[in-house]
Amino acid sequence: MSMDMTFLGTGSAYPSPHRGASALVLRTDGECWLFDCGEGTQTQLMKSQLRAGRITKVFISHLHGDHLFGLPGLLCTVSLNTNPDVHQSLKCVDIYGPRGLRKFLRVTLGLTGSQLLFPYGVHELEPTPDQCPEEGQLSLEMVEESSPPHPQEQPGRTIPLDNSTDSYLLFQDNKFVVKAFRLYHRIPSFGFCIQEHDRPGKLKTELLKELGVKPGPVYGRLKAGESVVLENGRLLLPSEVLEANIPGRKICVLGDCSSVLGVGACRLCNGADVLVHEATLGNEHQEKAVEHGHSTPQMAAAVARACCAQRLVLYHFSQRYKPSSLQKEGDEDDVSELKNQAEQALLDSGVEVTLAEDFMTIPIPLRKPPAIKV
Ligand SMILES: [Zn+2]
Ligand SMILES: [Zn+2]
Repeated sequence: MSMDMTFLGTGSAYPSPHRGASALVLRTDGECWLFDCGEGTQTQLMKSQLRAGRITKVFISHLHGDHLFGLPGLLCTVSLNTNPDVHQSLKCVDIYGPRGLRKFLRVTLGLTGSQLLFPYGVHELEPTPDQCPEEGQLSLEMVEESSPPHPQEQPGRTIPLDNSTDSYLLFQDNKFVVKAFRLYHRIPSFGFCIQEHDRPGKLKTELLKELGVKPGPVYGRLKAGESVVLENGRLLLPSEVLEANIPGRKICVLGDCSSVLGVGACRLCNGADVLVHEATLGNEHQEKAVEHGHSTPQMAAAVARACCAQRLVLYHFSQRYKPSSLQKEGDEDDVSELKNQAEQALLDSGVEVTLAEDFMTIPIPLRKPPAIKV
């Protein structure tokens, strides 16, 4: 199954002509999952190779506008382009995010009289009080849903923190388990971990031949993990004829933060193929970054190192950092310096550092089966 990630916006605070506000799409088998949706995301989508109509799930890390202001507009445009006669396009769009997101959509879609042709459901994560300073916490009155649901709003879940794992289980299906974890920011912020299930290793066809098992449906059953009784009465276990499992891929996307909170993040992100972390300002501005709830490349690198990630992708740059292609000689605030800073902090760790740019696509190749010990 192919998998890749496309950055639609890599700037912080607001969209600019050279950097969109936060948004990225993880694509798996033609399905698109959108992570954050800053203002202007829909036009960024139109400029990309991706199709907004393919978005089936949306994950909002936190309620700051540079991660959210684009969502009502995007939903309306997807609806305008929806063919009501095509049954498939009317699938429910599942939206995950912090408490308050359901009300935000209900009020913005309701007050603007926005009609949608497809149903949507909002599943809210309950933050804990230690995720932000006191002034960043939403009061009960602020998140109270006093207005009636939008006609297309489906009942959504409220997901509390699972204290035993320090994480939130968003959903699992036959391909993925998706969980969230807590971050510290000026308002409650979350990271998301997409864990693909391991897949069975190759069949040992030579061995099967020796056992007299001919290719056919039996091969499929063994590969699917079923035990099979052979004609001679012998019970054949899948583990006897399958090579080691191919480990599933793991992608972690962190919202704005000046630190992770608790043990959930590092447990979940351990060994991530790709860890996407913000780096709003350079190391020399660390004090200012932390004051605003943000990270520097060095801080992002420390998280990647603690999680033994294979690749660290930096994004959410202050708009003072122009993309490398627009950088002129003598310009201050060179974005490539952010990469150097992360690399410096990751010397000898084996973690690869990438600076995300708008419209950059990163393929996430299948993992290799574990090496056979001789
Ligand atoms: Zn932000
Ligand atoms: Zn923020």
